[in-house]
Amino acid sequence: MEYDEDEFLNLAGLQHFAFCRRQWALIHIEQQWNENLRTAEGHILHENAHDSLSAEKRGNLIISRGMAVLSHRLGVNGVCDVVEFHTSPGGVPIFGREGKWLPVPVEYKRGAPKENDADSLQLCCQAMCLEEMLVCGEIPKAYLYYGETARRTAVPLDEARRGKVTAMLSEMHELYRRKYTPRVKPTKSCNACSLKGLCVPKLYRSGSAADYLKKRLEECS
Ligand code: SF4
Repeated sequence: MEYDEDEFLNLAGLQHFAFCRRQWALIHIEQQWNENLRTAEGHILHENAHDSLSAEKRGNLIISRGMAVLSHRLGVNGVCDVVEFHTSPGGVPIFGREGKWLPVPVEYKRGAPKENDADSLQLCCQAMCLEEMLVCGEIPKAYLYYGETARRTAVPLDEARRGKVTAMLSEMHELYRRKYTPRVKPTKSCNACSLKGLCVPKLYRSGSAADYLKKRLEECS
């Protein structure tokens, strides 16, 4: 199956979906967004990485910033912070350069590496888009750069990770088509969630919304 461009989902939404399906739906289906310190700092780091749509050569690397990517097979599009092109027999020719070059995405994140795999899934999806767009060989690994440690980590792009990206995007398309926002499932992630104020996970713990409102009115009277 191939998706038309008007069905494409935002690639950055994969990390929201991996963090919490409800958070993804609130942002991408209901268009709700709450800026907090974490998201604001994340935007600044991304703006620095995207500060120019440019390409430069450094030694054996060609570095492209702010490169737009898409996949008709996955039904997704987005922008890569940085794509490095490494010389490789599995790569593709680049006009004006000798040899073949394999694209390797590098994604910039604020903070330290996370316990969940949200960042690596987003990165893997970028690589899958690049493989489809450029018709190059398989990209074996890519990199995540974390602002807090100022270091980058290699992420293997194995079959298990690729399968998870494909399955999650399929589920996202299904939810988007039905315009369905999953119900609240409070977890420890809620404490760091930028949408906690809109989602109100307390409602879940207190029973129904009607029960919650009744309790609040009683407290105010
Ligand atoms: S507050 Fe919790 S349940 Fe609600 S969107 Fe955020 S992570 Fe998901």
